[in-house]
Amino acid sequence: MQYRPLGNTGLNVSVLSYGASPLGSVFRGVAEPDGIRTVHTALDMGINFIDVSPYYGLTRAETVLGKALATVDRDRYFLATKVGRYGPEPKDFDFSATRVTHSVDESLARLGVDHVDIIQCHDIEFADLHQIIEETLPALRQVVTTGKARFVGITGLPLAVFHRVIDHAHVDTILSYCRYAINDTSLASALPYLLKNGVGVINASPLSMGLLSNREPPTWHPAPPEIRAACARAAALCRQRGTDIARLAIQFAVAEPRIATTLVGTASPENIANNIRWAAEPLDLELLADVQKILAPIHNHTWPSGRPENNGPLLTSLV
Ligand code: NAD
Repeated sequence: MQYRPLGNTGLNVSVLSYGASPLGSVFRGVAEPDGIRTVHTALDMGINFIDVSPYYGLTRAETVLGKALATVDRDRYFLATKVGRYGPEPKDFDFSATRVTHSVDESLARLGVDHVDIIQCHDIEFADLHQIIEETLPALRQVVTTGKARFVGITGLPLAVFHRVIDHAHVDTILSYCRYAINDTSLASALPYLLKNGVGVINASPLSMGLLSNREPPTWHPAPPEIRAACARAAALCRQRGTDIARLAIQFAVAEPRIATTLVGTASPENIANNIRWAAEPLDLELLADVQKILAPIHNHTWPSGRPENNGPLLTSLV
């Protein structure tokens, strides 16, 4: 496993890291022992960064992760969780100072730890960004002074929200998802700005939340039919060539050196072991070029997420 520095945090994180949302059974029903074994396999094979949220499985992922971590020394992993998102609907968000401060305590209790390394505002495109800057981030900085978290981050799908917040507030990390995978590499254009501002870059969902795999993506997957169809054609080509598109997708994501770490989600010990082995192998550039040709018509296509004013290109700055 290779490790890279995460912005200015001083954390040296594994290039492939573990996203714990599947422990909340968000992709399919997961047996707890399988989930726990997956966490242990990830750590035993060199992963040292884990991401979770109270939203995943409506607290179940944090609870199962807490059971897995109960037998692991705290200095073997860096842990990130989130605040502000507590369900799928816009009404389920609460970025108020009071709620997020309590939320950290609730997460620590479920996870069975006395601190997390990174506390992140979850999917800020659903929020009023003025509130994030003026209320939520200051509340989380206060949490840092208590020792319950070490660094503060923001997460989201539309890339413009990162600029709009970082232009006005200091954050240590961003977590972007589905924007640096074979079918969508838009995050690359934001990297110079993020690195200039000393922000650590966490890339999530290298399989585009299951689109780049041999399984059907979950029914809630927000991708429109043309993206699903193109990814399915790309997966079929990889099968014809005797390989798995998940392998190419993992290798593609970890090959970008400006991205500190890429979070992959699974609750299968076999999948995480394969993913870690694949991450250490060279990328098949010839196959990649053929897969990119299939995906060209939908390259960088995405879907709306959150408030309309937080989507779209970076035309206006937040004032
Ligand atoms: P992903 O791209 O990692 O894909 C996960 C899916 O791929 C699951 O269905 C899993 O079973 C499958 N998979 C994994 N390895 C496989 C393999 N070797 N072969 C076949 N299938 C395989 O998407 P993700 O889980 O959504 O993203 C990873 C993590 O990133 C999440 O668990 C979460 O921690 C984080 N994340 C955060 C946000 C946010 O903050 N807004 C959004 C998305 C993801």
